[in-house]
Amino acid sequence: MPVSKDNAEKAMDAAACISCGACVASCKNASAMLFVAAKVSHLALLPQGQPEREWRVRSMVTQMDKEGFGNCTNQYECEAVCPKEIKVAFIAKMNREYSGALLKNRGV
Ligand code: SF4
Repeated sequence: MPVSKDNAEKAMDAAACISCGACVASCKNASAMLFVAAKVSHLALLPQGQPEREWRVRSMVTQMDKEGFGNCTNQYECEAVCPKEIKVAFIAKMNREYSGALLKNRGV
């Protein structure tokens, strides 16, 4: 199944997350958005992740909120401490994925 070089590289960057939780621990809002964004982005960038793409991001963001994690306020502490150098740009991607999934779910 063909995957563009750009998407393959971004997916591999996101897949480097080892779920260590350092990003959450460093964030003054206790936000888990960098971790969740890495997981969402990894699969959203690959063909294998397409069948459950919208469902996945909706479910993961909903669960993150239920667990009481805070919201991102662009402090960048997460990116600074991440041992795998996951970039905050993935949070922006997750937000776009989430918005798109909500609109699709409403039939817009
Ligand atoms: S600090 Fe980096 S590697 Fe660890 S959970 Fe957060 S995003 Fe993943």
